[in-house]
Amino acid sequence: MNDIVKGFRKIVFLSFPPEVSGRPVVCNLAKLFDLSFNILKAQINPRQDGALTLEIMGLEENFQRAQGYLKENGVKISSIAQRIFRDEETCVHCGVCTAMCPTHALSLDRASRQVLFEVDKCSACGLCTRICPMHAMNVELDENSLLELPRRRRPSPTERV
Ligand code: SF4
Ligand code: SF4
Repeated sequence: MNDIVKGFRKIVFLSFPPEVSGRPVVCNLAKLFDLSFNILKAQINPRQDGALTLEIMGLEENFQRAQGYLKENGVKISSIAQRIFRDEETCVHCGVCTAMCPTHALSLDRASRQVLFEVDKCSACGLCTRICPMHAMNVELDENSLLELPRRRRPSPTERV
């Protein structure tokens, strides 16, 4: 039995150039590196750029080797933490987002009455960016990304008063 249960888990964003979209590079993560993965979001079209949000599980050393494999094959890999953030000054801890967040990355800490944001649990689904009344949640995307998450304008400091 492999050690997945106490192993490493990470949500990553992959972007593929057109020449890679038809190759089995993601399947090879399981075959060559004994990693498991869930596809959380995908947009792959033959002969076009592609984008995948993956939850990857396995041993950390295998994940590190797999990252090298993906890069060698022209796949750009970035962590979700680089893509989603909460504007701490804007969030009023109303809790609206906690009911919608499918991965429980946003949760209410009853003792402090603050809404916690655990970016490692976030799948960058974008739901919170749509419902947050303060526009505090933001998802940044590559210019050539195919993921269709909403880009919301951040209010300027003068608009916040
Ligand atoms: S909905 Fe927006 S303002 Fe309310 S807790 Fe969530 S991030 Fe903060
Ligand atoms: S994008 Fe927002 S709603 Fe979606 S998993 Fe991340 S924190 Fe939760």
